[in-house]
Amino acid sequence: MSDILSKFQTSAEGLSESEVQKRQSKYGLNELEEKKPKSLIKLFLEQFIDVLNGLLFVASIAAYAVGDIIDSAVILLAILLNAILGFIQEYRSQKAVEMLKSFTTQESIVRRNSKIQKIESKYLTIGDIVILEEGDKVPADLILIESNDLKVDESFLTGESEPASKDIDDEVHMDSNIISGNAEGVVTKIGMETAIGEIAGMVQEESEDTPLQNKVSKLGKVLSFISIIVCVFVFILELSKGIPIVETFMTAVSLAVAAVPEGLPAVLTLTLALGMQQMAKSNAIVKRLLSVETLGSCTVICSDKTGTLTENKMTVRESYFFNENKTSLIGVLCNNAVINNDEIIGDPTDGAILKYFNNASDDYGSYKRVNEIPLDSNRKMMSCEYTCSEENNIILSKGAPEIILNKSKYIDDNGNIKIITPEIKEMVLKKTGEMANDALRVIGFAYKTKDSLDDEENLIFTGLVGIIDPPKKEAEKAVKECQNAGIKVVMITGDYEITAKAIASELNILTTGKVITGSELEKLSDEEYMEIVEDIEVYARVKPTQKMRIVETLKRKGHIVSMTGDGVNDAPALKKASIGVAMGNGTEVAQEAADMIIEDNNFATIVKAVEEGRKIYDNIKRFVKFQVSTNIGAILTIIGTSLLNLPIPFTPVQLLWINIVMDGPPAQTLGMEGAEKNIMKRKPETGDILNKKVLTRILISGLVMAIGTTGVFLYQTQISTQTKAMTVAFTLFVIYQLFNALNCKSDSEESSKYLYLGIVLSLLLQILIIYIPQLQIIFKTTAIGIADWIMIVITASTIIIVEKIMNRMIK
Ligand code: ADP
Ligand code: MG
Repeated sequence: MSDILSKFQTSAEGLSESEVQKRQSKYGLNELEEKKPKSLIKLFLEQFIDVLNGLLFVASIAAYAVGDIIDSAVILLAILLNAILGFIQEYRSQKAVEMLKSFTTQESIVRRNSKIQKIESKYLTIGDIVILEEGDKVPADLILIESNDLKVDESFLTGESEPASKDIDDEVHMDSNIISGNAEGVVTKIGMETAIGEIAGMVQEESEDTPLQNKVSKLGKVLSFISIIVCVFVFILELSKGIPIVETFMTAVSLAVAAVPEGLPAVLTLTLALGMQQMAKSNAIVKRLLSVETLGSCTVICSDKTGTLTENKMTVRESYFFNENKTSLIGVLCNNAVINNDEIIGDPTDGAILKYFNNASDDYGSYKRVNEIPLDSNRKMMSCEYTCSEENNIILSKGAPEIILNKSKYIDDNGNIKIITPEIKEMVLKKTGEMANDALRVIGFAYKTKDSLDDEENLIFTGLVGIIDPPKKEAEKAVKECQNAGIKVVMITGDYEITAKAIASELNILTTGKVITGSELEKLSDEEYMEIVEDIEVYARVKPTQKMRIVETLKRKGHIVSMTGDGVNDAPALKKASIGVAMGNGTEVAQEAADMIIEDNNFATIVKAVEEGRKIYDNIKRFVKFQVSTNIGAILTIIGTSLLNLPIPFTPVQLLWINIVMDGPPAQTLGMEGAEKNIMKRKPETGDILNKKVLTRILISGLVMAIGTTGVFLYQTQISTQTKAMTVAFTLFVIYQLFNALNCKSDSEESSKYLYLGIVLSLLLQILIIYIPQLQIIFKTTAIGIADWIMIVITASTIIIVEKIMNRMIK
């Protein structure tokens, strides 16, 4: 071992700060290189690569060839505008996703200059001494100089799913997971030099499409297919009427552009990405777009108690000793926390105990730790073996009082070792119950002189402490909010039943439902558990491994389950949950398994994220409704006028304009609407955003637009010139869109001003298009009179009336 230390020119005390500086400038940072995001130019140019754009380009050339310079130029301009819109959307989502990366930094615990410190893993350098704990991701390639039963999952390197045991002088690799035990190691390789760095080369960010993205793109494809057929049909029909081929081609292509919802996937991604960004600002780091979608429909939140619902600022409040000195010895030595300038590094329970006993004047310097059976949430206790000047080693244990008590045979009554009688046992449990009733977390202490066996049996019990961990202030309000929103809150804890009950009642999580313990749960059959699962509000003394069963059963009941966790043992349940939530201070293994990381470890933040998720869900519905009904409206209008043997009511340039209004300001702002007033007062919406009802409503809206436009166009062709009739039909169709945008808006006051702004802007431009002579030439419009406007507004308002009716009939 000292070989290794000298080989890397370091010592067990760690490097000095100046040495660290020197090595960092020599070896660089401990980072894996990532593929660079697309350059701006590439992103912009990519916008042009698109079938519709290609066809538009051909149309533009054709127009130029037949001398129609204006149309040709306008079509080019439309291509450019579409590209700019698409570019802005993609650029913004790329930025939003990039920003998220900066929120998740990996940290390591190192010893430098004999001091233990927490640093960002990228600042690790060769020769650093790293301390590894259960749940850590190994931050670099290391060789161990100390190991307590270290078990490492390195399946990503070896394919071997069984955790490997690692001893002194063994190598552990960057990005493997510490499943149990703890260790110290010397950094031997960093960054791209590590095994993972060499294998992976560049790290590629994988991006998978969410079910909603798939749905929307499928809907888009169906619509495209239908519109292409209609366009081909229109092309043939117009040709057969003897209309010149170039004009017909331009019309057909522009119609396709207006009828295909090509902007939809981009707006969807942007909305989700901006939602992620918004959530990140309120401390909820969502790792995948998918989870933004799922969050909005969450029906149950299963939350840890300690640290999520409570402060995790632990203080010993009560104690009960048979032998205070011995308890103090155990408390200080069977403890892995360190107090560094009043700041606790390590487990908060350990920290509270250390703080409490540290004041004692005893000096335990002569004790040396030789072994540890680490704390494990399944066992709920830990033990350490120490040697000292005395002939035999001692085993010191602390943990859940009933577990420690069950492993104890004696008590140490101020030096008198007595057998534990049923009376003594009852008294200790009574004391435990009293402390737990006051919502205290109770820890029991015991020891023994080591005999031949290295076990935790026949211990000598020495006392109890009760630790207070007050509930978070915001938690009670957030619980209430969930209850109003139809979201069930379930508390899951490894803590004692009575403690759990006391805290759950304080937070109003425990109302009319049941409390169940892990061992009771174990005895239930799957059927029995299914029966009562929805009545259970508190799980106490559960093992993390049981969380999996809780998630599975709730999911089988049809719930969308969010589950929190922080340890290695929680990782499978986090993966299984609809939304796995890890805490910012949780283990890296849990964070990796999770869909969302709550930076401030706060239950209220989860609820905030759900609210944000609901808002995003609503906004997606808004612009899908808006855009798709326009697409359908345009197609149906063309079909209608063809059936009536009328000319096409819109010129190509008008169709391109309709397309820009549709993808432009009103649509964009619909994705940014504020939350509905009742957003957290209504039941969760699960299932499909694009369900039958929504699709029916979209279809009806499209139909209303088509009937109105066709009808007015038919009437206008009887009483005025073709240009006038087309101008009225075109304006009517645009006004339909603007009214439809109003239909889709949220009832919140928050951000609708953007929407109103977008609508007013579009209206103004429409007026300019009709009345400015130069624009009249481009758009082939003509001035229309007040009577026409009245007809337009009255007809267009049918879409608002129909929406109101549908609100009542199609719920
Ligand atoms: P939770 O996070 O739900 O409070 P834990 O798994 O952290 O549950 O703790 C479960 C039980 O394990 C505690 O009630 C306590 O009895 C025991 N325990 C927790 N931390 C320690 C510790 N540092 N040392 C000894 N026992 C502990
Ligand atoms: Mg805990």
